[in-house]
Amino acid sequence: MAGRRWPLDELLTETNRAWRARAREVAEKVVRPKAAHYDRVQEYPWEIKDALCASGLMGVWIPAEYGGGGGGVLDLCLVVEELSKACGGVGVLYAVNALGSFPLLLAGTEEQKRHYLPEIASGRRLCAFGLSERGAGSDAGGLATRCEVGASELIINGDKKWTTNGGAADIYTVFTVSDPTSMSRRLSAVLIEKGDPGFAIGRTEDKMGIRCVPVVELHFRDCRVPADRILGGRPGVGFKHAMMTLDRARPGVAAQAVGCAQGATDLAVVYCNQRQQFGQPISGFQMVQGMLADMSTQIEAARQLVHASARALDLGAKDVTRMAAQAKLFATDMAMKVTTDAVQLFGGYGYMRDYPVEKYMRDAKITQIYEGTNQVQRIVVARSIIKQAASLEHLKAYIPLPDHPNTLADRARAPVAPAQA
Ligand SMILES: Cc1cc2nc3c(=O)[nH]c(=O)nc-3n(C[C@H](O)[C@H](O)[C@H](O)COP(=O)(O)OP(=O)(O)OC[C@H]3O[C@@H](n4cnc5c(N)ncnc54)[C@H](O)[C@@H]3O)c2cc1C
Repeated sequence: MAGRRWPLDELLTETNRAWRARAREVAEKVVRPKAAHYDRVQEYPWEIKDALCASGLMGVWIPAEYGGGGGGVLDLCLVVEELSKACGGVGVLYAVNALGSFPLLLAGTEEQKRHYLPEIASGRRLCAFGLSERGAGSDAGGLATRCEVGASELIINGDKKWTTNGGAADIYTVFTVSDPTSMSRRLSAVLIEKGDPGFAIGRTEDKMGIRCVPVVELHFRDCRVPADRILGGRPGVGFKHAMMTLDRARPGVAAQAVGCAQGATDLAVVYCNQRQQFGQPISGFQMVQGMLADMSTQIEAARQLVHASARALDLGAKDVTRMAAQAKLFATDMAMKVTTDAVQLFGGYGYMRDYPVEKYMRDAKITQIYEGTNQVQRIVVARSIIKQAASLEHLKAYIPLPDHPNTLADRARAPVAPAQA
């Protein structure tokens, strides 16, 4: 189980490999045997969460000074990939705690970090991230949940949509409008706790995939919390905090996608060796081999993008927005294609719920949608490359204008001047 080596293991540190091995063990011993059950009943798998806590995986991404594993985004991604290979739902069940706690890590006051992070790191308290609303998905800046900021308390009113881990979670990073008159300082993130007066969990969604983790509505009706719950201790920086968080979290979604694709491909290879048609295993057919080769190559390309973007974040590189978006975009589109191809390789059996492969396709689909749809990722990438084209001005000299008479071709066609007598 832990024995399978990957040719690029040498690029990982011993610590990276140790986290991955621990996650692989939990994935194979605890997650895989229960994946189909929790998918069917659509219930939160508390026994799997307990196993993740017992293995010390819950706070991998949280610095040791706050009780965490002291790992980085790369360690987080390695764990998410392993869990997602066994169950894409468990991959996000785990990763969403990073999404919910990144705002605290990136922008919390020292008191807020000391108060919340150790309990998140131990898994005693779970986290969620409440940005989206019914009317504000891709246009996250257009959210409407209101927060009145007083000297001693905050009063929150409004509703959130699609909050992953809602109900199971104890701590919610909720994005609100604290200054409706401002364009640039409109939003603030607020730390909400389960049991806060005026805070309620609403409807739980019935989903296509990632069914073991709840996705719910949150309701705030004159929800009053102490003023020190505003993230970072000052209002008006919520939009920046949300975007910083998404940059840091997108490689994790990409890792979830890589895990789903790898998990489906592993099953497909085994099946193709086992399934006989025309008197031979179907893995002997070149068209099947071509599909397997393409699936594996696409997974590897995506994995490298995940690792590169995670390393860039861990090194504190500037301008990681584009790379995190590229990792998310490429890996999640790849996962949709590869998991669909895995179903194809199982033939009719692949379409059946009592076979394990169609779940990967259902789990993979959401990765193209949440934490910014892939259309939104394309906008992010395109904006970045168009802006950076300013540094490529020197190339203009090599690109003739359509009405420019002096192209190389024109010069070649020009009559040669008669030799001077
Ligand atoms: C299962 C699940 C879990 C989720 N978990 C969370 C969570 O934990 N926390 C949270 O805050 N949110 C969460 N979300 C919300 C998720 O991030 C949003 O669904 C997503 O950002 C898209 O928003 P929307 O659904 O409103 O779609 P819309 O924004 O309405 O988009 C609809 C379509 O239009 C396209 N589109 C929109 N704008 C543009 C544009 N400018 N150019 C081109 N195309 C565009 C989109 O790409 C999409 O295809 C979750 C969603 C789901 C389904």
